Parts: sequence; C-alpha cells; structure tokens
Amino acid sequence: MRQFPERLLNGYNNFMSGRYADERDRYRTLAEAGQSPHTLVVACCDSRAAPETIFDCGPGELFVVRNVANMVPPYEPDNQYHATSAAIEFAVQALKIANIVIMGHGRCGGIKAALDPNMEPLSPGDFIGKWMSLVRPAADQIQSNDLMTQGERQTALERVSIRNSISNLRTFPYVKALEEQGKLQLHGAWFDISTGELWVMDAMTGDFMRPSDLATAAADSEPAA
Ligand SMILES: [Zn+2]
Repeated sequence: MRQFPERLLNGYNNFMSGRYADERDRYRTLAEAGQSPHTLVVACCDSRAAPETIFDCGPGELFVVRNVANMVPPYEPDNQYHATSAAIEFAVQALKIANIVIMGHGRCGGIKAALDPNMEPLSPGDFIGKWMSLVRPAADQIQSNDLMTQGERQTALERVSIRNSISNLRTFPYVKALEEQGKLQLHGAWFDISTGELWVMDAMTGDFMRPSDLATAAADSEPAA
C-alpha cells in the first residue's frame, strides 16, 4: 500500500501538539467568524520562499497565492483558466484586503529559465515557457546586456519582474480604483534566500532597499520641519 509521506505525518503531529494547541482559540474564532487577512502575498512556488514562514504570520493573516516566479498576469477576462487572477479577485473584492505584496526571491528557477534562450521545454506542453513569456521583453533586454554577469542579470530580472507584476496588477480595474481611493496598497519585496535578507521596494522609485535603509531614505526625503 502506498504510504502518505512520513515526514508530513510527523510534522502534522508536531503541529497539533505545538502550534495548534497554542492557537486553538484563534483557529476556532477564525472558523466561526471567517477569515479577514490583511494582506495578499503573491509568492513563488519555490520551497525556500514560504511567506508565512518569512513574515512569521499566524493563521488568518495572509492570503497567499503561489505560482512559478511569483508573477501577476495582465487583466484578461477571456474565458481562460486564470488561477492567479481568481485569487486576486477574491482577495480584493470579497476579503477587502488592504495590501498586496509581490514577493520575489533570489536564485529563482523560473527567472533563470526566462534568461536562458536555449532552454528546452520540460514537456511538450511547455507551460513554463508560456507562463514566463510574461517577462519575455524584459528578459531579452537584460540577457543582451554584456556588461552584467549572469548573477547580476538574474537579480535584475527578479526585481524588474516584481515591478512588471505591480504594473499588471493596475490593469485590474478594481485594483486600480481601490489604490487610487487609498484603500489598497501595492508593494514589492525580494527575499535573499542565501542570507535571509528581505529587500523592500520603494514605492516612489521602484528601487529595492533593506527596510532600515528605506526608513532612512523616507525620513531624508521629508521636508524639514
Ligand atoms: Zn522562484
């Protein structure tokens, strides 16, 4: 008989005796009252970039959609299967979340594939190739830059892609409207899996900075009292 992975069963037992035992009341309240997460996170499927772990969030706090290379496609009401757009629609229209965070990460396999023009499809359907074509124009420009190392190109596209997803978010009419009304904020973040550092996007410039540097930059740009 096929066994359910033992690692997962052991982990579940730890969860029940540890975290669930500690947060039993919270789970019960969430079950009765429903969820009201404050933030939608669009993160990569990468096993090293789990938003709940990185942001140390408990149950009910984050509404998370994960896809290859944490991308948001443009708004395309075309009767196709749009998993990420469905999650955005529910988070914004039903849950009324206050923030959307596009969270990229270092050493992203999807971004690496987008930068490799000779990459063979992993299967005839080539779902990855089609999906990563969302950043094809940016990938082509960055790949043709001979002054950059491959590592620099990779980090550059990981961050450009985050800004690209934020632009695509604004093609969703309700996202654009709520942002303009000040009811929804769009954010970018990039997690360095090798050092554990989080870099946050400056909403004005699109630059990525460590949160402490971002706070300093914001204080510097405020008019003197
Ligand atoms: Zn990734």
